[in-house]
Amino acid sequence: MKTMSCKELGGACYQKFSANTFEEIAALSKEHGKKMFQKKDAEHLNAMQQMRSLVKDTDGMKKWYEERKKVFDSLPED
Ligand SMILES: [Zn+2]
Repeated sequence: MKTMSCKELGGACYQKFSANTFEEIAALSKEHGKKMFQKKDAEHLNAMQQMRSLVKDTDGMKKWYEERKKVFDSLPED
């Protein structure tokens, strides 16, 4: 298992997510983001806005994804 925080995944807080693959951890952070969005948490809404402008095209999305995946891959196992 590896652990990344919401912030490291483009979010706004220090909640930690643990998963075996980057796909899993991305899904966990997405779920968390959805909850924060429903709560209208200002910091997460802000982070999502920034994120959206970063990934507004396929290239940006790919780049973001690959960069985060690299971070995940370089982390030590828990
Ligand atoms: Zn968060």
